[in-house]
Amino acid sequence: MHTPDRPIIELSSISKTFPGGVRALDSVSLTVKEGEVVAVIGPSGSGKSTMLRCINGLEEIDSGTIVVDGIPLDEKPANRLTIRTEVGMVFQSFNLFPHLSVRENIDIAQIRVRKRSAAQAEERSRELLAKVGLTDKIDAYPSQLSGGQKQRVAIARALAMDPKVMLFDEATSALDPEMIGEVLQVMRDLAAEGMTMLAVTHEMGFAREVASRVLFLDEGAVIEQQEAKAFFQRPSQERSREFLRKVF
Ligand code: ADP
Ligand code: MG
Repeated sequence: MHTPDRPIIELSSISKTFPGGVRALDSVSLTVKEGEVVAVIGPSGSGKSTMLRCINGLEEIDSGTIVVDGIPLDEKPANRLTIRTEVGMVFQSFNLFPHLSVRENIDIAQIRVRKRSAAQAEERSRELLAKVGLTDKIDAYPSQLSGGQKQRVAIARALAMDPKVMLFDEATSALDPEMIGEVLQVMRDLAAEGMTMLAVTHEMGFAREVASRVLFLDEGAVIEQQEAKAFFQRPSQERSREFLRKVF
């Protein structure tokens, strides 16, 4: 059940500098509440991927704090594991296991991490494949799927862990144009069901229609954060105006 004001992601002044001196994140703060969809936009190299990777512990922050569903992402291995399990992530490249069937790709973490029986995992995998419209591909291998189908399997696989939040990093950027719509539709459906989402996207139509808020990053810093409709109608900062002029 939803508790409207419950924060699922809380970033407080997180900073990250890569060896070599690139300041990828510069004191970024963001709260995503349960059921919210936040679109993250900004130029290439602005720190969008780094921000997502820090949230599930794939990258370490230098300073600041990250709390996911009340659990601090600190040095405790148990906390890190819980957060990794509760944060679903979908990448631009689908990262499916090529030697496993579609069903096995979705089953595997349910069995290994969620400790479900093979039968329980299979039941959940079937439900999720129905949800993403791929019931008929259950026994196929990734090489037999189109890019859009692979990405829908990757989404089903992330959902199989019953995540508290889904992070999408340019989930449609590697797809041929005719396949973008089917993946965006799955993301729209998820949002409509109340899934909490943080989505890096270049799909401005999606951001405008589906996101409750937009976070605009440039050079690792939050330049602007506001309600999606207002952002697209009248961005308050010159850098966001300039970005929107380029993408539209
Ligand atoms: P975006 O996703 O917005 O394009 P990234 O988060 O990938 O941006 O990158 C932010 C900045 O950090 C860029 O300048 C990028 O070159 C740098 N960067 C990202 N990953 C690494 C890394 N592993 N090592 C060094 N620099 C990195
Ligand atoms: Mg990126």
